[in-house]
Amino acid sequence: MLAAQSRPALTETPGLDQARALLSRVWGHGDFRGLQGQVVGQILSGGDVLAVLPTGGGKSVCYQIPAILRPGLGLVVSPLIALMTDQVEALKQQGVAAARLDSGVSLDDRSAIWRAARAGELDLLYVSPEGLAAGAMLDRLAELPLSLIAIDEAHCVSQWGHDFRPDYRNLGLLAERFPGVPRIAVTATADARTRDDILRSLRLEGAQVFVDSFARPNLQLSAERKENASRAKTDARVIEMVRERRGKSGVVYCGSRDGCDRVAQALRDAGTNAIAYHAGMDTRERDRRLERFLAEDGAVMVATIAFGMGVDKADVRFVIHADPPGSLEAYWQEIGRAGRDGEPAEGITLYGPSDIAWSLRRLDGRPMAEEVKQVQVRKVRQLFAMLDGAVCRPQAVRRYFGEQDAAPCGVCDVCSDPPQLYDATVPAQKALAAVQRLGGRFGRGRVIDHLTGRTKDVQPWEQQLSTWGVGREISLNSWREIVDHLLFEGLLVEDPNDGKPLVGLGDPDAVRAVYKAERQVEVRRAPLRADAAPRRRDRSGEGRNAALETMDADVRARFEALRAWRRDRASEQHV
Ligand code: ADP
Ligand code: MG
Ligand code: ZN
Repeated sequence: MLAAQSRPALTETPGLDQARALLSRVWGHGDFRGLQGQVVGQILSGGDVLAVLPTGGGKSVCYQIPAILRPGLGLVVSPLIALMTDQVEALKQQGVAAARLDSGVSLDDRSAIWRAARAGELDLLYVSPEGLAAGAMLDRLAELPLSLIAIDEAHCVSQWGHDFRPDYRNLGLLAERFPGVPRIAVTATADARTRDDILRSLRLEGAQVFVDSFARPNLQLSAERKENASRAKTDARVIEMVRERRGKSGVVYCGSRDGCDRVAQALRDAGTNAIAYHAGMDTRERDRRLERFLAEDGAVMVATIAFGMGVDKADVRFVIHADPPGSLEAYWQEIGRAGRDGEPAEGITLYGPSDIAWSLRRLDGRPMAEEVKQVQVRKVRQLFAMLDGAVCRPQAVRRYFGEQDAAPCGVCDVCSDPPQLYDATVPAQKALAAVQRLGGRFGRGRVIDHLTGRTKDVQPWEQQLSTWGVGREISLNSWREIVDHLLFEGLLVEDPNDGKPLVGLGDPDAVRAVYKAERQVEVRRAPLRADAAPRRRDRSGEGRNAALETMDADVRARFEALRAWRRDRASEQHV
């Protein structure tokens, strides 16, 4: 009873019935869904809002409807011309007076738009953050009554987000320039830190915050480790997956423009209607390709992240990441473009150790504060830990977004076929010890060579290390899996160095915990014994670190033997 009294029912919010009527008449939707009604109600009553609603959840009407119902012009800040064009065209077709001011609008059209705005004939005006920053626009707007200010894709304001746009940071000044005008910021993906940053940067301290659940129950998610770093193999796998989904509309994300062109061509060769899309094409060409994707049945867009923000195609049946995204936020946003119609859809991510190195290297090249870089690096690691982990995919992501009580989804690859995990703590200790002794001199493959004692270009100092050949009993492939897992977990890190990453120790606390066997390392496949290598004495009964400690004498003996052999061979050659 009390709760009902203190929180007025939706129908009591002034204007909400009108809003619902508008939603039905102009948009043809029966009712608000999710938190839409509450968001609209808050804006109608003049309050500020930050709304975090899922992709395809209908964020646009949250500000479009109050903009129409309240007196004055609704100002919408949007990061992309393509987004503005889509929305403005759709609104116009629905009979709403909407316009956009971006770099592509002629001077004549600009004057006409301002005339209409001053005459009170415009409901919604879309602008870019850059356009606003120019200043003159603000002065003109200040002369007009505004119904509200909406900031779409508001995660762009935050350096913690994945689409940071410096001009978004200046939008805080709107609070001073337009006091009393309700402001609403909307985004699909923002973790708690990003939400705080948005509130602070946009000076939305008094705003009511709405966060919808991140659940997307119609999405079936999976992740697949790339067999190796070979592009040809990855391409072949992508083509195979698209073929299995023949006739369905989908998106394939690639990490580079070259990759897009290559994969799109390969898909076309295989008979798929594939369209490449990236920022290397001019805007008009991109628009043409987007139109084809929207119009043609079974079209597959092969794109970089230049594609996607706000793309509204309801029947995308799959999103495949040929290269993984940059963070869990980006992952959720990108796979979120599948199944916007609520029908079953898939999100499949391919990932490998060269991808994590690539992601980190790319961050390294960007100008940003050290503190920001640290966070971005951690985000890359969190993504890969999820991909290579054994937790239900949506559950892992929703927990990351703060939904601690999210239940397993029941349909992802982990839920439907739980991976069998094996204790690889002892091999992990060996690998960590080796990397420590090697002092970060070697890359991933060479570290594994050191562990298996198989390298041809072995250094004398290297052979003297107690870790040389310490992992002979485990096969090369198993070592790759284990070392990669350590990289994905951040126990080992690859430091970019002239494009050839060297392996070092990761988070010291985590490494120490593994050394002390307080933290277990689990891999998906049981470490295989190397078939070719001679069997070693079984030391499993001697405790976790015993194998490492007792190795020295053993290695030394082998080292002596090897030296003797080398001497012999050298003298033979001199003969
Ligand atoms: P977002 O910006 O949150 O990703 P959009 O605003 O682009 O989503 O809306 C996605 C789709 O959902 C649009 O086609 C829109 O018309 C539709 N939609 C919005 N609200 C509703 C609703 N209440 N009922 C049904 N469909 C809706
Ligand atoms: Mg949107
Ligand atoms: Zn699951």
